[in-house]
This record gives sequence, structure tokens and C-alpha cells, in this order.
Amino acid sequence: MLNVVIFGPPGSGKGTQSERIIENFGLTHISTGDILRKEICAGSDLGKLAKSLIDKGQLVPDETIIEILEKKLDTLNNTKGVIFDGFPRTVDQAAALKKMLNSRGQDVNIMLNLEVDREELIDRLLKRGQVSGRSDDNLETIEQRIKVYEKQTAPVIDFYKSEGIYHPIKGTGEIDAIFSRIAEAISALA
Ligand code: AMP
Repeated sequence: MLNVVIFGPPGSGKGTQSERIIENFGLTHISTGDILRKEICAGSDLGKLAKSLIDKGQLVPDETIIEILEKKLDTLNNTKGVIFDGFPRTVDQAAALKKMLNSRGQDVNIMLNLEVDREELIDRLLKRGQVSGRSDDNLETIEQRIKVYEKQTAPVIDFYKSEGIYHPIKGTGEIDAIFSRIAEAISALA
């Protein structure tokens, strides 16, 4: 099993690069943001809670998101591995993921951190907002999401550094060039 965490601030290209990784390495995609957006569309209780937080640029509580992930992991069978996109977003989530995978005889094999500066993130997200229809791709919420990233999510970097699987990736330039850097890092694991 090959378990990859794709990490980075909002707008760093996690979703875009996940698609390439899935195509090229045959991994299963788990995006907690996509799961929450589906719940919002379905109008479930979880969707209602998620919408109120997502629209404010806040995180969904750890217990809720960890439970979602545990359920999702239980549905997987016969997979080569997983790409975790948008999870973990806190150190507690990272520790919970390790525990969940360890109990299944696995671990995260590599954490790829897409590095993009703040100005470019805002620029990309505003552009995405014109086509994505995402309620959180507006300037006020984008700035809040970046703040939340810096305070609550960036500490996850140190967690994976201490695990010895941290891998920074230059997240700017051509999409293909970024993917080449990612593919090289993943291929080096085999
Ligand atoms: P994303 O699609 O990954 O940008 O996620 C969109 C929003 O969903 C985030 O701004 C959070 O409000 C929420 N969300 C997604 N993943 C998580 C997570 N792992 N922990 C907490 N909240 C999350």
C-alpha cells in the first residue's frame, strides 16, 4: 500500500495534482472537502454543520472529520493505496490518521507539501471562484482560510518532519512540471 498525503495551503493545487497522481499511480482519492461538499448537496445534518463552517473559512471539528475518514477507510478494498487530499489539517488529525493506518498494518509513506506564496494563492483562488461556484472562493473567506491554514494546519509540517517523510515540492510554474517533481518523489519510494 502506498499512502500519500498531499498537503499545502488553500489554492496550492492539491486537487489538480491529486488527479494526476490518481491517473499515474492508480491510487484511490480521498478528499475530505469533496466529501463535505457532497453532504452539503444532500442536505444532511453533517452537510448543514459543514456549510456553516466552510462558508466562514473555519475547519470542521476534528472528531467529525476523523469519524468520516475512518468510515471511508473501511469502505476501501483492493486498493493500491490512497491519496489523502485536504486531510490531515490539524496535528490531532495527523496523529489520528497514523493510528488508523497503523491499526490496519499501514502508515503514511510520504507527505508532499506544495509550496506557493500567499499572493499567488489569493490570485488562483479568486480566479477559481469565477468558475468553481464554491461559496468559499471569495476574498474575505479566502483570507480567513489562509489564516486558519497558518495557525492550525501549518504545524502538521513538523509532525511529518519528525516522521521523516516530509517532502517539500515547488508548487509554482507549469502544472506538468509540478507533477514531474511529485512523480519523481513518489517513484523514489519504490
Ligand atoms: P478543501 O476542499 O480541502 O479546500 O476544503 C474545503 C473546506 O472544507 C475547508 O475550508 C474546511 O472548512 C473543510 N474541511 C475540509 N477538509 C477538512 C479537514 N480535514 N478538517 C477540517 N475541515 C475540513
